[in-house]
Amino acid sequence: MSEIVKTRAIVLRRLDFGDTSRIAHFFTEEFGKLSAMVKGAKSPKSKTGLVIDLLNVVELVLYKKETREVQLVSQVDLLKHFPNIRDDFEKFRFASAVIELLATMITESEPHPKLFEGSVKILSLIDSSNESPKILFAKYFFFFLKELGYEFQFERCSVCGRVLSKGEQASYNFEAGMICTDCRADRLTNFNFSEELFELVFCLNQKKCSYTYKEENINSIIVLLEKFLAYNVGEFKGLKSLKI
Ligand SMILES: [Zn+2]
Repeated sequence: MSEIVKTRAIVLRRLDFGDTSRIAHFFTEEFGKLSAMVKGAKSPKSKTGLVIDLLNVVELVLYKKETREVQLVSQVDLLKHFPNIRDDFEKFRFASAVIELLATMITESEPHPKLFEGSVKILSLIDSSNESPKILFAKYFFFFLKELGYEFQFERCSVCGRVLSKGEQASYNFEAGMICTDCRADRLTNFNFSEELFELVFCLNQKKCSYTYKEENINSIIVLLEKFLAYNVGEFKGLKSLKI
C-alpha cells in the first residue's frame, strides 16, 4: 500500500531517467533523505521539471511506499530558491559543500528535522546576507556534526577536565579530544591551536561573532573539521566542493 504524504524538501541532486522522466534525491523534513521519480519532468513545458532543481526548497506530495527504493512525486511547489548563490562563485562553493554533506553523510530515510531547518537557514543566509560564505559554512559544519552525533567537543580538557577558556593555547587529539595548555606538554597531539584560532572556535559556536578573523584561520578550522569527520567516518574523504 502506498500513502500520500506531504513534506518540505531540499533538492540534492537530479538525474535524467529515460526519455521523459527524472529521478531526484531529496533531503526531506519528515522522512530524511529519499529518492523520487518525477514523471514527465524533462519536457520543457513541465513546471515540475523547472522547480526540481539543485538547492531549491520545495513542497513535495509523494506516493510513498516503505518497500520501494524510489518514491513517486505527485506534486511539487517551489518554496524557496537562491538566485544569488548561482551568480557568486564563493557562495556557490560553500552552498555546494552544504549539499555535499547532506548528500553523502546522512543515512537514507532517517529524519533529522532540526538539521533540515538549519540547512534551509544556512542556504538562505549564504544567498542573501553579506556575511562571508566561508564563515557561515564553518558555523554550519559545527552544527551539522553535532546533529549527526559527532559533536566536536572543545569546552573541556579531556585529560584534567578543566573548562577551557577562549584564547587558550589548547591542542587536539582525535582519539582523546581537547587537551589544555598544562596537559599538552607530554602528550601526542594532532592539532595545535594558536590563541587566535581557539578563540575563533568559540566564536563560531556562538550566535553572535564579530567577523574580523583571517581567512587562513577559518580555512584551518574547516580542514580540522574535515579531518575530525574523516576520523569518525572512514568513508569520508574530505569535501570535494571545496577543492574546486
Ligand atoms: Zn588539562
